[in-house]
Amino acid sequence: MTLRHIILVLALCLPPAGVLAAPRVVVLDPGHGGTNLGARGQTVDVYEKKLALAYANLTATYLRRMMPSVKVVLTRTRDRYLTLTQRVRMANAAKAAVFVSIHLNACETHIQKGFGTFILSRQASDKEAARVAMKENDARKVRTQARKPAPGGRGPTVSSIMSNLRHVGAHTASVRLAASVQKALTRARGKALNRGIRQASFDVLMGLSMPGVLVEVGFIDHRKEGPELNTLKVQKAISLALAQAIVEHLSPPPRRTRVRPRVRKRRRRAARKK
Ligand SMILES: [Zn+2]
Repeated sequence: MTLRHIILVLALCLPPAGVLAAPRVVVLDPGHGGTNLGARGQTVDVYEKKLALAYANLTATYLRRMMPSVKVVLTRTRDRYLTLTQRVRMANAAKAAVFVSIHLNACETHIQKGFGTFILSRQASDKEAARVAMKENDARKVRTQARKPAPGGRGPTVSSIMSNLRHVGAHTASVRLAASVQKALTRARGKALNRGIRQASFDVLMGLSMPGVLVEVGFIDHRKEGPELNTLKVQKAISLALAQAIVEHLSPPPRRTRVRPRVRKRRRRAARKK
């Protein structure tokens, strides 16, 4: 056997580069569950917990198809109660690269519609962000009622926010992820429904050691949007958009093509003429 043959046999036996590396993990978190029903539809008899799970399941299916190398983990795969802290712990234990909490919005007047993405911040960016954080943090209220206040008036929530804010890199990446989500959802649902990116102190994003966002895919209590969000067609469109946003976030940025000197000169000359 020649040296060439030996090299060829070795190359065929060895696994391709990257196969031995641990797969990247994406954690999808369907909001609410069990006794925590979430918001309720007005013109459609469905609770947020059920739709959030449907969206998370579909997003997981699309993600697995689009990025087979990624491991997708759901914080819950059935109708069961989970605290917000448990969800964070699961994401950290899985060493996730990305965390996306999926919810459906609602408001007192039942007239608002559209989708928005939220990231963690010590202070709410506006009234709307504060309202959504209060709605999604309900589980914390129940938990902290039984707890003694921490000495010096600094509750555990503040300290966990402070520790989270130390992860500046993760925060910047969360902003980038939120932008990808909003861009993909705008493609799927239209500009008119884009409510933008907001910040507030969401319990489910506190203490995460990876970039994380909370997405409100639409208003479950809106007269028209609520029933729409309950259809498989819209669920598929939104879930595909969420998967696309995650894929975009995990994919390396496109390499800048090198411009040849002669082309560069020509471009400069053309720019001067303008
Ligand atoms: Zn929710």
